Amino acid sequence: MNKSIAIDGPSGAGKSTLSRMIAKRYGLIYVDTGAMYRTVGLYVLRNGTDSHDRGGVVSLLPDIHIGMRYDSAGVQRMLLNGEDVSEEIRLPAVSLYASDVSAMPEVRSFLLQMQRKLAEENSVIMDGRDIGTVVLPHAGLKIFLSASPEDRARRRYEELRLKGVETTPEDVFRDISYRDANDSSRAAAPLRAAEGAVILDTTGNTLEESFETISSLVQEYLNGGDE
Ligand code: C5P
Repeated sequence: MNKSIAIDGPSGAGKSTLSRMIAKRYGLIYVDTGAMYRTVGLYVLRNGTDSHDRGGVVSLLPDIHIGMRYDSAGVQRMLLNGEDVSEEIRLPAVSLYASDVSAMPEVRSFLLQMQRKLAEENSVIMDGRDIGTVVLPHAGLKIFLSASPEDRARRRYEELRLKGVETTPEDVFRDISYRDANDSSRAAAPLRAAEGAVILDTTGNTLEESFETISSLVQEYLNGGDE
């Protein structure tokens, strides 16, 4: 039986880096659901549609074909109507669009089926905002990962800087605060810890420390339950 691990939490908590490391160590497929929302956001941005215009965004959905593939290093690549947009979806403007369109229930149900199918067909570690609450409520292990907004902004800034994206720590902090407020206050699948989730606050921890903590939870789950 396939195993499912759900990792939720706010932007910059380290979900994707840690999930990728866990997937590698335990031979799981890492599914980054934020990348799917980003791909929708990119299409809306390119189209020149206002990210708050629900009718406009919903009318675009039939034209959006999202594909996913894994490269030889096991990294998830995102395809938008056949074009590889894996780098472009990381741009700060796309983050804001992703956050806005992800508040729309039609956008959420558009992606839900794809997310569930991936978990039906593979043993996964899936990260996002609503994985433990909505997408995989029966996941065998649920983790809610957080850290202080300052820590998260610092990590995100460093990540963007290394990728060569031009930004400032102030802009990153503002974007994170905007997305935190958006993601937590929306009516559709708001960000919150799922029932039964292990809550981990990684403020001040090194990546290695967080990795070891999560690894022991994963190890216990994989050795034990049959979910
Ligand atoms: O995780 P990441 O920062 O790449 O996600 C981009 C945006 O997509 C988030 O700010 C959030 O609004 C949205 N998202 C979501 N539900 C998910 C994953 C991401 O609403 N499961």
